[in-house]
Amino acid sequence: MEIEIVGQVKCPECGNIVPKGRYCIFCRADITNAPPVITKKEPEEKEKKEMSLEERLELLEEELNKLKKDIDVLKRAIGLI
Ligand SMILES: [Zn+2]
Repeated sequence: MEIEIVGQVKCPECGNIVPKGRYCIFCRADITNAPPVITKKEPEEKEKKEMSLEERLELLEEELNKLKKDIDVLKRAIGLI
């Protein structure tokens, strides 16, 4: 995915990213025809690390143990144990 940074151009002379305008703020080169800055941005889903099956299983086991304890508490509460 490519996004264009509005209002910024790359100076063809010095290569700096400079505000769009008539002249480069660094080297004073004419940047009226300089190309707009394009930066590549990774989709956000890629930044999130996908959980492995083992990690998910671990979480589910933890959850299951919690629920088992809850069930025991409830059983005691109603006099089954
Ligand atoms: Zn420049």
